Amino acid sequence: MDRTDWPFFDARHREFAQALDAWAAAEVRDLHGDHDVDATCRTLVRKLGDAGWLRHAVAGRDFGGAGEAIDTRTICLARETLARHNGLADFAFAMQGLGSGAISLQGSPGQKERYLPRVARGEAIAAFALSEPEAGSDVANLQCAAHVEGEHAVLHGEKTWISNGGIADFYVVFCRTGEAPGPRGISAFIVDADTPGFEIAERIDVIAPHPLARLRFRECRVPLSQRIGAPGEGFKVAMRTLDVFRTSVAAAALGFARRALDEALQRATTRRMFNQTLADFQLTQAKLAQMATTIDSAALLVYRAAWLRDQGRSVTKEAAMAKMAATEGAQQVIDAALQMFGGLGVKSGQPVEQLYREIRSLRIYEGATEVQQLIIARELLKEVKA
Ligand SMILES: Cc1cc2nc3c(=O)[nH]c(=O)nc-3n(C[C@H](O)[C@H](O)[C@H](O)COP(=O)(O)OP(=O)(O)OC[C@H]3O[C@@H](n4cnc5c(N)ncnc54)[C@H](O)[C@@H]3O)c2cc1C
Repeated sequence: MDRTDWPFFDARHREFAQALDAWAAAEVRDLHGDHDVDATCRTLVRKLGDAGWLRHAVAGRDFGGAGEAIDTRTICLARETLARHNGLADFAFAMQGLGSGAISLQGSPGQKERYLPRVARGEAIAAFALSEPEAGSDVANLQCAAHVEGEHAVLHGEKTWISNGGIADFYVVFCRTGEAPGPRGISAFIVDADTPGFEIAERIDVIAPHPLARLRFRECRVPLSQRIGAPGEGFKVAMRTLDVFRTSVAAAALGFARRALDEALQRATTRRMFNQTLADFQLTQAKLAQMATTIDSAALLVYRAAWLRDQGRSVTKEAAMAKMAATEGAQQVIDAALQMFGGLGVKSGQPVEQLYREIRSLRIYEGATEVQQLIIARELLKEVKA
């Protein structure tokens, strides 16, 4: 039974997943960015835009979107499918959505008109700049500041671990504006990459290479018309955006895990040893059974959370469960697959070796596993007290 036959989905989801799968197999399966991730990501964004897939990453038909609101199940199917074929393609798709998500959700009509159609066509690359050197998990403590001078906000400070940093055309930047202490004193601004006072302070290499940078703002003047939402509402804007995309991180992990199982099945049924195939050993069969079950349990959690969100229901606990189970589970599945490949599993460039590097960050970004555990427990305890 295909997962799109589950009751969480409509016929349009089934058609979408099948069409994207066929497209990805033909267009991006072998496109890796080992030599130049910047160029590969730019190519992928254009390809995804030209083929119309990025319309699903933005909201509003008048602004290039496929629908009036972002459909979480579609976003999750897109990420799962792309990740199964190519990690960078998933990254390119996800970042167009995450980077422009705040504009889709809370931008003014002028902001939507200026940015969203270009994001949907793959003509403008987006980035989401929340984390700082001293504020990652504890992000409400961010220090990058903005003060108002006339018709401008003047930004000072740093952001780090910013995906698409260095290739983005614009950055949604969350700054302390001081209307109230803590999370109620933060505002969101759209900063075009060519704004004076904005620079890339450092490009960061990670184990699964993709464009990533530390950003610096010095006397960076942005018109107040670039603020998203009301002053002091930036933290809410950030959390609403993450609310949409957190479940999709779990979906990407699912895609990586499915690819690892595909690779493991292929290898186990063809690798001969001791006069039989690797798959003939019960020890291997136990591993395969565990991998498939881990994948299906994660998938059920992912699509439950996505379906709930599309019904307009609260998904705080469900999205956290999906992210934790899918990313931690995918790490185990990929490790088991790599083990079945023996020495070949650790050879650079092998699909399981790439997956092994690819999955690691997903257990950290958009809320590390420990943060998800705290969220789940807090929601459980609230239910007990209610
Ligand atoms: C590849 C990659 C891409 C990223 N892209 C972006 C991006 O595009 N935009 C953006 O804004 N940010 C991005 N990030 C940043 C990411 O969201 C942060 O790395 C993450 O929130 C963790 O913050 P930190 O790195 O400062 O770790 P810290 O906050 O220092 O946490 C370190 C570790 O402490 C543990 N921990 C955290 N909280 C608790 C707790 N309450 N109890 C016990 N243990 C705890 C966790 O294991 C965590 O991994 C990216 C990160 C990576 C690795």
